[in-house]
Amino acid sequence: MSLLAPRSHLLNGLNAEAYRRCIAEGADRVATQLATTEHPFTGISPQRLAPAIDRVDLDRPLHDPSAALDELEETYLRDAVYFHHPRYLAHLNCPVVIPAVLGEAVLSAVNSSLDTWDQSAGATLIERRLIDWTAERIGLGPAADGIFTSGGTQSNLQALLLAREESKDAGELGKLRVFASECSHFSVQKSAKLLGLSPDSVVSVPCDNTKRMRTAALARELERCVREGFTPMAVVATAGTTDFGSIDPLPEIAELTERYDTWLHVDAAYGCGLLVSHKNRHLLDGLERADSVTVDYHKSFFQPVSSSAILVRDRATLRHATYHADYLNPRRTVEERIPNQVDKSLQTTRRFDALKLWMTLRVMGADGIGELFDEVCALASDGWRMLALDPRFDVVVEPQLSTLVFRYIPADVTEPTHIDRANLYARKALFASGDAIVAGTKAGGRHYLKFTLLNPETTIADIAAVLDLIADHAEQYLGDTLVRAS
Ligand SMILES: *Cc1c(COP(=O)(O)O)cnc(C)c1O
Repeated sequence: MSLLAPRSHLLNGLNAEAYRRCIAEGADRVATQLATTEHPFTGISPQRLAPAIDRVDLDRPLHDPSAALDELEETYLRDAVYFHHPRYLAHLNCPVVIPAVLGEAVLSAVNSSLDTWDQSAGATLIERRLIDWTAERIGLGPAADGIFTSGGTQSNLQALLLAREESKDAGELGKLRVFASECSHFSVQKSAKLLGLSPDSVVSVPCDNTKRMRTAALARELERCVREGFTPMAVVATAGTTDFGSIDPLPEIAELTERYDTWLHVDAAYGCGLLVSHKNRHLLDGLERADSVTVDYHKSFFQPVSSSAILVRDRATLRHATYHADYLNPRRTVEERIPNQVDKSLQTTRRFDALKLWMTLRVMGADGIGELFDEVCALASDGWRMLALDPRFDVVVEPQLSTLVFRYIPADVTEPTHIDRANLYARKALFASGDAIVAGTKAGGRHYLKFTLLNPETTIADIAAVLDLIADHAEQYLGDTLVRAS
């Protein structure tokens, strides 16, 4: 069949050979790119890249996968941001493991949809096994269950939906209060808004100087909440804050949620990697007392985006996401014990993302993942020691996981806004150079830089080299502005 015939592009038994060639060529282009990429980024600006994409005439197809891949090198592959590069140190993006990428290729080709058994068969059972496996690692007990989601944001939303519906005052939205630390993820506030809670429903609980929730402050806020006639709907503890990797004191928080008979949600989007760690699993002690837990395998399990889940202690609570449609999952399928995952999910059509984790566990095993995560946590400790000894830098906290928040402190500049600007400039200049990518955040109202270390290939020498680059860029900025000022 000619490549001009639309049917030649359908993935089916007739075109199996074309599929095999096409995927092999795609993998080959990516492999070549990975093998030759010297920097995490080319530093290209949106203005310079846009014309290459605008030029593409979407109404004139190339009729040839090789030609489309050639074009893709110009529009995407050459200038992409590469997370596998040891000097990509910015956000919570991990390099991915090959078994998971293999799973990704299989799941998109077979294209199961996990809403119902009659669209997925074994895929549904595989997802269920992984949910049980994760719940068991957490220690949630015999009634636990859960569902794969698109990410931590969706998991947090679903957890707070369940918490709202389980609250004794679910009918009085204005009365409900959610408690989360000042370092918690912004999806908690977004969820509160989506759930119709009042604009001041999320009570921000202060952190101590290690960026963990102050439980004494939480106790005071809970007491005040009840005294003022409001209802504590949920406490969100974070096991691995996005900026600092700090883990809230879970056992103490669990004492309080039990005392106030309140839902405990633990956002372990980042810290979940400790579930498979031999060295640091104890940092999650208390997690087993949660009513719900968010895990992002696409952060600390080296999985491609998306791969996430929400786990719950009591599977009955998932009924708050259950609706029946005659065409899809009629009520009788429950009596017939047909496993329809849509009954537990906020999504309907849903990817078989679980396959990536399944292939990872079957090929390399949980210990392998834990070992990789332990390595990046150890690297962060070494990096912290290096920063703490370096008079050029101020580092905020000793990491429990794998981030470092720090800033360059010039020897002869005391004006805080100048220091802020020098650090902002250094980050931008580094990004534009493509030599390394670091993130930025704020601490104590001032601008800081952040390394998120998720690549076991990154070495302490990489960290030292990037710190020198940051110092050079910051000094360049200060030198230039001083010249201009004089
Ligand atoms: C990343 C993150 C989230 C959001 O997860 P997504 O997968 O990006 O939606 C939620 N909570 C914490 C603590 C995170 O680090």
